[in-house]
Amino acid sequence: MMTSPINTHFISEPYSMNSLSKTLALLAILILSSCVDPQSTTRDEGNDPQDKTYVIKNVNIIPMTNANDVIENANVLIKDNFIYSINDSIPSNALTIDGTGKWLIPGLIDMHVHTNADLNFRANKPTQGATFFMNTQHVMTPHVANGVTTIFELSARVEHFGQRNEIAKGEVVGPRMALARLINGGDGSGSVNTEADARQAVRSAKNEGYNFIKVYSHLSIESYQAAIDEAQKHGLKVVGHIPDVFKGQTENAFILHFGLVAHAEELSKQIRNQPKTAKDAENFARMAKENDTWLIPNLIAIVKIRDQVKSLDSIRSMESLKYVHPLLRDKWLNSNNYNKHSSSEFLGYLDSLIAFHQEIVVAFKEAGVPMVSGTDAGVSGVVTGFALHDELQLLAEAGLTNEEVLISATRHPAEWLGIAEMVGTVEEGKFADLVLLDANPLDEISNTRRISGVFVNGTWLDKQKIDALLKDLADWNTENIDTYEWQKRRMY
Ligand SMILES: [Zn+2]
Repeated sequence: MMTSPINTHFISEPYSMNSLSKTLALLAILILSSCVDPQSTTRDEGNDPQDKTYVIKNVNIIPMTNANDVIENANVLIKDNFIYSINDSIPSNALTIDGTGKWLIPGLIDMHVHTNADLNFRANKPTQGATFFMNTQHVMTPHVANGVTTIFELSARVEHFGQRNEIAKGEVVGPRMALARLINGGDGSGSVNTEADARQAVRSAKNEGYNFIKVYSHLSIESYQAAIDEAQKHGLKVVGHIPDVFKGQTENAFILHFGLVAHAEELSKQIRNQPKTAKDAENFARMAKENDTWLIPNLIAIVKIRDQVKSLDSIRSMESLKYVHPLLRDKWLNSNNYNKHSSSEFLGYLDSLIAFHQEIVVAFKEAGVPMVSGTDAGVSGVVTGFALHDELQLLAEAGLTNEEVLISATRHPAEWLGIAEMVGTVEEGKFADLVLLDANPLDEISNTRRISGVFVNGTWLDKQKIDALLKDLADWNTENIDTYEWQKRRMY
């Protein structure tokens, strides 16, 4: 019942969808993640972090609570993997981190990622495991280096559970992982085309340990409704695409328990072949508001796609390209289907999407629909971890205040995922997922990039450690740059 986790961007549909969806499917297969475990064990590169107590001294806290009153010159005690106290007594054995002139925010949450993981590029044999392997630390380093301490994997498979366990065991420093099982219709393997199959797919996902369901573009109306209804019965929240069959009747896709739209483009593709106006954006916002459906705007993916349709120099010149696995790098540069289908018509379409998605952000803000930040990391040009800061910038440019942007990457996603008791704000008793910044992101949102250090579930990564992790990844990628070719992937 495995559906291929095709990360189709509707925009590609008129442009050779088949080959694109195939390559994207493989790309997405390279991806994985898993669930959020409130009992997540402590981890500190083999040391027991319970031995370590830290105090961040004289730091300005941006708590991201509802009131969000900045606490200036505070002392934050981190003990075990928790925020133990704020402005209380400091034990003499606490390791001091100087927070003078710095700003402390909750760890960031990327609500739409595709995570590389081990996979089998070849045909299955009864005893055949994966044939292509990923170093999980390398996969997770770009997240934690960028202050991303929780991710939502939207094409999860069993390997993502394995990665989550590696993190829980302390073998890998990585984010908390929420895992969504993708359910799709159509004629792919494991596709779901009846109400009964849709319900069974959800029950199977529940039994396999998933906490979230992702509905996808090719579901029929009956399968879509059944999947969401069954998910509700089993306490699984639903994120996803709006299936193509709802074109012309988008309102009917907004049914109870459809909790989160995976991209703004799910809305724009519903009106693909017509002019898109602010009125349309308001209409979508009203539907979402009435149904309590939240939105991942995901602005960066279309911007990156537009840039590479224009020129692959946009990829070549990315500073973060050195953190991309050589296989994907080769695909992005030498088998780039977006660029292959470059035309002024395509560019015009992408530009119209970019403009309309900004209007969607404005309309959803006006309507009071919560938005959560997500990147679609893994898509060509969208680099894990780094892209979240681009997304935050785009949300600010679209019209959110810097505080609203930060809410979309901290408190709101924690609430949607059901982990707000544990993460999403800087408060006593919460897990120590924290980002220490050199400058105030409320003044200028790009200050989220000025990372001085990160606490990942109580493990402290100072700048030096972050740089070392990144260097290790970049060195490995450089050493192996000629080892992988996308066109030869079936041989791996
Ligand atoms: Zn995606």
